[in-house]
Amino acid sequence: MGPPGVGKGTYAKGLEERLGIPHISTGDLLRAAVDEGTELGLEVRKILEKGKLVPDDDMMILVSKRIQKEDAQKGFILDGFPRTVPQAEMLDRLFDKLNKKIDYIMDFFLDEAGLIQRLSNRRQCPQCGRIYNLINIKPKNDLLCDDCGIELMQRDDDHSEVIQKRLLVYKDKTQPLIHYYENRKGYLKIEAINVDDVLDEIMELIKQ
Ligand code: AMP
Repeated sequence: MGPPGVGKGTYAKGLEERLGIPHISTGDLLRAAVDEGTELGLEVRKILEKGKLVPDDDMMILVSKRIQKEDAQKGFILDGFPRTVPQAEMLDRLFDKLNKKIDYIMDFFLDEAGLIQRLSNRRQCPQCGRIYNLINIKPKNDLLCDDCGIELMQRDDDHSEVIQKRLLVYKDKTQPLIHYYENRKGYLKIEAINVDDVLDEIMELIKQ
């Protein structure tokens, strides 16, 4: 967990590679629903455009289905979920039912100027989902994905008015989650400065 722009997706992708378990991003699941034009997708589009949160019950159904798929049976990395205290409570209940446990809770932080700089310079490959930053994680060729050669896109919700709204929603709804989790075993607070150093630091902490 962590505010928008802290790099949750980038760290989760790095950990997916290093740990060999799937990265489950609720933002990506929702954007896929929007692209597919499903009934949920049409509703979700309006919510994402405003930088608001999708209702907890809808999120729970989405996550519950995804974590019960075959590829998630040895473990998974949740990115962007839970984002509210009711979601965290529902996740605890679901895990009890499925006999699963949370091994680590990674709470990333960065100052607000750094977050805004990252969000406004973020670009993503529409094909493989790889995330770039025009300041510090630049693509090798102009604005093309290093892996797919496809033109990178800016997310609709990475424009300045929506960014401000998302930061406010984070403070209001998601920050209280820190108190929900901070005394649990496996809680790690991590300053999200440099991607490679941070990933090495996390791997060290996990090994310990
Ligand atoms: P992200 O890609 O994690 O930044 O998520 C993009 C957007 O998807 C958020 O601004 C929310 O509108 C929505 N979203 C993602 N995860 C959740 C969640 N756990 N609960 C509610 N809305 C979510």
